[in-house]
Amino acid sequence: MEHPISISEYLSSEEIQRIREFAEGNETPFVLISRKKIGQKYDELKHSLPFAKIYYAMKANPAEEVVELLHKKGSNFDVATIYEMEQLLRMGVSPDKMSFGNTIKKAKDIKKAYEYGVRLFVTDSHSDLRKLAANAPGSRVFFRLLTESNGADWPLSRKFGAHTGQIYSLIVEARDLGLVPYGLSFHVGSQQRDIGEWDHSISQCKYLFDDVKRYEGIELKMINLGGGLPAKYLKPTRSIQQYAEIITKYLHEYFGEELPEILIEPGRYMVGDAGVVVTEIVLISKKSESSQYEWVYLDIGKFGGLIETLDEAIKYPIFPEKGYNGAGSKEVILAGPTCDSMDILYEHFKYELPKDIKEGDRLFILTAGAYTYTYCSVEFNGIPPVKVYFID
Ligand SMILES: *Cc1c(COP(=O)(O)O)cnc(C)c1O
Repeated sequence: MEHPISISEYLSSEEIQRIREFAEGNETPFVLISRKKIGQKYDELKHSLPFAKIYYAMKANPAEEVVELLHKKGSNFDVATIYEMEQLLRMGVSPDKMSFGNTIKKAKDIKKAYEYGVRLFVTDSHSDLRKLAANAPGSRVFFRLLTESNGADWPLSRKFGAHTGQIYSLIVEARDLGLVPYGLSFHVGSQQRDIGEWDHSISQCKYLFDDVKRYEGIELKMINLGGGLPAKYLKPTRSIQQYAEIITKYLHEYFGEELPEILIEPGRYMVGDAGVVVTEIVLISKKSESSQYEWVYLDIGKFGGLIETLDEAIKYPIFPEKGYNGAGSKEVILAGPTCDSMDILYEHFKYELPKDIKEGDRLFILTAGAYTYTYCSVEFNGIPPVKVYFID
């Protein structure tokens, strides 16, 4: 058991006040997102890694409000599908600010992307590379390395990336197919707590940069550091300044003073902290008189967007709206409202709520700005998708 830390470690009293005021007139559940906070996150990253070009990973939160704000700040965008690309185009984002960052692509979508003007693509397989050569001739291609994702709360390993040997042959084949072998990428795993994971991947980049130059005369120009930068969940991480300092140190260790072009694709970091879910307690019950723990059922669960509670991987900071009073607190099991027994949020890890918590009371689920509402089911049990609101 870890005792809940104070909400004041996450939000200023002014921010808490604004959430309370907004919540008063609105039906739960909803996600409330602060534009100001996203702007601050962008600025902090820009300041900490001034040499890196930021490609916001749209999948973390593709809301127009987010895209518009980041576009105004000068961000580029990492897109996974033609649909995200078309949203950006509708919003006036130029195709040269986009990277098609999904290794899994249909030939016709590559063709469309090329027609839209996108010229930067990722790959990790021979089949995808040949689709790129046929449908996006002459484009710049970067190659995704496999990582272990050790130390990440939400690993992205296994599915993406290839071993260095295959990457080497992809680089050579890309050149032979008339593409521009441009750089390398990796993703160390989302919410990566071990900054050393970047060390390992950057060292692999250096090795490949040197080898393809020495044996093939190919000069790679770019490293894409991927995502993995943290948001502030229950268990603390180092600060973004520390991440940036250490990653910068690794880059210089391997590449000396003159760094290649550096891209970074933050998703969770950029929007996670900016969101709060406001939810109401629907039911509090015990399985028997002698059960140790009460079940507290909320009006949002896995199918309302909190899918990252799978295996209790992401632990959101959760606080009662009314705060902790003198009555003391108790450990509970938290679950969602649907008729699927998988819809349990936290059963092994116990959150603490005030002893006198009751049905109808509200909870704030913090750090819910990334990977939440887009995961909502479509009318499972008839429940409409969770509402999303923005404040400044
Ligand atoms: C999801 C994703 C990201 C963002 O990852 P975070 O850990 O949320 O920062 C970056 N790049 C790619 C290719 C992704 O798929």
